[in-house]
This record gives sequence, C-alpha cells and structure tokens, in this order.
Amino acid sequence: MATIKAIEGRSVHQIQSGQVIIDLQSVCKELVENSIDAGATSIEVRFKNNGLDAIEVQDNGAGIAPDDYDTIALKHYTSKLATYDDLASLQTFGFRGEALSSLCALSNFHIVTTRATDGPKGTKLEFEQSGKLRGTSVVAAKQGTTVVVETLFHNLPVRRKELEKNAKREYSKVLQLLNAYACISVGVKFSVSNQMSKGRKTVAFSTNANPTTRDNLSNVYGAKTIAALIPLNLAFDMDPSNRPGATQSARNWSAQEDPGSRKITILGHISRPVVGEGRQTPDRQMFFVNSRPCSLPQVAKAFNEVYRSFNITQSPFVFADMKLDTNAYDVNVSPDKRTILLHDQTALLERLKEALFELFEGHAQSVPQAQLL
Ligand code: ADP
Ligand code: MG
Repeated sequence: MATIKAIEGRSVHQIQSGQVIIDLQSVCKELVENSIDAGATSIEVRFKNNGLDAIEVQDNGAGIAPDDYDTIALKHYTSKLATYDDLASLQTFGFRGEALSSLCALSNFHIVTTRATDGPKGTKLEFEQSGKLRGTSVVAAKQGTTVVVETLFHNLPVRRKELEKNAKREYSKVLQLLNAYACISVGVKFSVSNQMSKGRKTVAFSTNANPTTRDNLSNVYGAKTIAALIPLNLAFDMDPSNRPGATQSARNWSAQEDPGSRKITILGHISRPVVGEGRQTPDRQMFFVNSRPCSLPQVAKAFNEVYRSFNITQSPFVFADMKLDTNAYDVNVSPDKRTILLHDQTALLERLKEALFELFEGHAQSVPQAQLL
C-alpha cells in the first residue's frame, strides 16, 4: 500500500501561511506594503493591546474594485505580477498574492471598508479561512481601504503563546520596522498608535507627508538627533574596467557583462565619525534596497566596521538606501521577502568599505581638533 500521499489542501494552506506570516512584524509589513502599493498618501496603523487583540491599517489608497472582491484573498491572486519574468521589473512591494490569504488562515481577518476611486460607497468584506469571500455589506467610507487582523495565531497555540509572552518585545520590533517604512516613504503621512485594554491610547510616532527622508527622520527621531547626521551619498562602479588603474584584461572581462547592472548609488544619512556623535548600540540602523526595507547583515557589518575605525566606542545612526539595478538582486528568497540576495556581494562590500572610508576621512578631518578629544 502506498504510504506517500498528498497533504489535504486546507493543511497545506495553513503550513504555507505560517511561513509568510511568522510574527507580528510580518503582519504589519504586509499590510503597510499593500497600502503603499495602493498609492496611499496617508497610512494609519492602530494596535490594540500591543497587537495581541488587533492590528488595524487604514489607508487612502486606490481601494479595491468590486470585480476583485471574490479573488482578493485567494492564494496567489495578485494585481502586481502575472508571470515570473515580471519580477525583474517589479515596482511594487508585493508580488506573490500570499499575504491576505495567509492572514485569513491564521487570524480573524476582514476588510473593514474599501472604496475604490470612483466607487460611490464603501464595502465591508468578510472571508472564510481559505480566503474565499464569505459576504459583503455596504458601509459608509472615504476612499481607500481599512483592514483588520484580530487575534493573530488563534489557531496556532504555540505561536499564540509565544506572541503573548513576548508581546512588548514584539511590539517594539514592529515599531522599528514601521519607522523604516515611514522614513523611506516620502510624501506619505504615517501615524501609529496603541490602545491598551486598560488605559489610554498612545501615539507611538507620526510623520507629516514630508518631501524628504530627512524630514521624515526628524519627525520620528527628533530634529536634534537628525541635525547631527551627515548626508550619505556614495556612488561606485562594480565594473572593474571603470575603476582607476583597471587592467586591459579586466576591461575585456567586463565587456561581456551587462553594464547597466554595475552602478550602485547609496543615499541616506549617517552619524559623523566623531566620538560622542554615534550611538552606544547599533539600534538605529535602517537599510533599504530600492526603497524596500530589508535585512542586510553583511552590509550593516561593513558600515559598523568602517565607522568603528574612526570612532572606536560607538556605532553610527544609519539610514541607507541602496539603488541597484533590478537584475543585481533577488527578493524572492524567503517567504517574508526581508532577506535579499545581492549578486556579487563580496565585491560590493569591498567597494562600499572603500567609499565609506573616503566619506568618513573627509568628515573626520573637517571636525575641529577640540571636538575630537
Ligand atoms: P500582493 O500584495 O502580493 O499582491 P496580497 O495578498 O498582499 O498580495 O494582496 C492581494 C491583492 O489585494 C493585491 O494585489 C491588491 O490588488 C489588493 N490589495 C491588498 N491590500 C490592498 C489595499 N490596502 N488597497 C488596495 N488594494 C489592496
Ligand atoms: Mg501584499
């Protein structure tokens, strides 16, 4: 008798969903990314009881068209990608159509209201665990979408217990991630609040719809902290033939490569390499690839190492957005899309360190000697 059998569909859905939505952070990441993808200029995130009871995200984006109600929360249904080849030119955060379907499987999820640009009224959408639309009702609403995730992991007891045990820590991790989205999103007003079951509602942070990332950072971390940062504006060429002193063989070798994918720019803000201006711990460091917040441990290490050769006791505040050709990295590495595979990472880190040394050297010299003591 055959012992190898297919897992029942519902269980497959639950197993896969647990990889997309791994914690409170991934919930917020997915929902905020959906709001940004929908072109929102105002995003409000409201937590109840550190997110244990509910996470509600309200945006003023494009809304959902009635024709899409039936499929919106079905697995692998997306408005952002049709074929694998589209991934190379992707302009949106989302592309796999997995977030809403996973949230239906792991929480009490519904769309509180949605109203498309030309829609006359708002609609509430409720779903089955499978992501199938259960029903709709008409509600009053402004343009945009409000979604709510209640009792996350109610059907995964081990994860629910972990979440409850670490609620405060999880919540502060979420705030860090939301800070990154708020600071990189120019022209988008962010507001994040938390309502505890007993007690008052607290506003965690907010930004105005600012024209620059520096203004966003100022709103979140305070004008004084940000005034001390210097602009980060690095540009380097990964193509060996364009580097000073390149050999003929390097030129021949690189001529076979795609020249468009070899230029890298890093824009942002960073602490001056001066004792007293860095931070005790590397807690405020945000890295992005083409404005996508992501975890880049090796890049972070390079920043910290070079900084520490100028300021041995501290770590820098870093806000760094790497502008890369879409062929130079792959976001489709982990289900939560936070891990990014950088092609040619070793060479990139080398160039980055050189460029940082140059930047810091200039600034270390420009500081009056008295301040260096
Ligand atoms: P993905 O973002 O990968 O497409 P999701 O499951 O996150 O997958 O969302 C499915 C679809 O639902 C999206 O492609 C988008 O069309 C729509 N959608 C989700 N959230 C919003 C929102 N806040 N505003 C408008 N449309 C949304
Ligand atoms: Mg999405």
